[in-house]
Amino acid sequence: MHLFKHAADLKSALSAMKAARASVGFVPTMGALHEGHLSLVRRSKSENAVTVCSIYVNPAQFNDPNDLEKYPRPIERDIELLASVSCDVLFLPPTEEVYPNGLSHLKHYDLGHLEHFLEGASRPGHFNGVANVVDRLLHLVEPDRLYLGQKDFQQVKVVEHVISGSDFQVSGAKPAIVMCPIVREADGLAMSSRNIRLTATQRKNAAGISRELFFIHDHWKEYSASELKRQAIHRINTIPEAQVDYLEFCDAGEFTLITDWKEARQIVCVTSVIVGAVRLLDNILLN
Ligand code: AMP
Repeated sequence: MHLFKHAADLKSALSAMKAARASVGFVPTMGALHEGHLSLVRRSKSENAVTVCSIYVNPAQFNDPNDLEKYPRPIERDIELLASVSCDVLFLPPTEEVYPNGLSHLKHYDLGHLEHFLEGASRPGHFNGVANVVDRLLHLVEPDRLYLGQKDFQQVKVVEHVISGSDFQVSGAKPAIVMCPIVREADGLAMSSRNIRLTATQRKNAAGISRELFFIHDHWKEYSASELKRQAIHRINTIPEAQVDYLEFCDAGEFTLITDWKEARQIVCVTSVIVGAVRLLDNILLN
């Protein structure tokens, strides 16, 4: 595996591969890698000649300085994990490479309703920070395909919005977004770099979130949307130390709220739950 810290080195290495028309798949991450991230790398490997993974803990998307400071950074282990799945290139840039004009000169993106909706309402500025880093990384890597996890469903919608609203192209086409399924622990908890910040008891109890989503997946047709939402929030809030931030049913395409099942062709149930001091995200497609 090649490791680059500087954008110029990454670009010159990739330009030789691109000249040979090798397709490039890109997996952006913030590190502290787990099976969820590795599933994206494997998928990219299976669909591209070259797979680039980036590890960059993006300060611009943290609205809570404490969360940024506590974000795990086990880089040696991450490198071993990426090598174990035969990732071709690791891009590990310092902040000067990602934000040459500094973090105080971020671009402002028009993200439409996504900016202040659900996750955006709870984390002001978060998605503008995501848009900045993804836009910059896309210009550095110039991938044919971009691999993102369903785990961060709204983030996928934000990146779709950024790509569709920009004239950025690679070999005459916009990069394709490949949304990969959520990888879960054996008890159902969605894998997340933040899970290690849970105490043993919180970790065990947190599986109740996915249990509720699986129940919703299996029984949604038996309830109205408002009744199912009320019951689900109530049940999750009975998990010790758990507090639902939001639990909503959305049109999976437009990512707008629905109050009646008939309003959407495909429905996604999205939730954010604070367990102890850790915000956990999960979602499930109902149909
Ligand atoms: P992060 O390092 O948290 O920024 O995540 C990097 C990428 O991995 C994002 O596209 C996430 O949606 C994806 N990802 C994180 N957790 C999972 C998971 N449990 N299953 C699938 N993809 C995931």
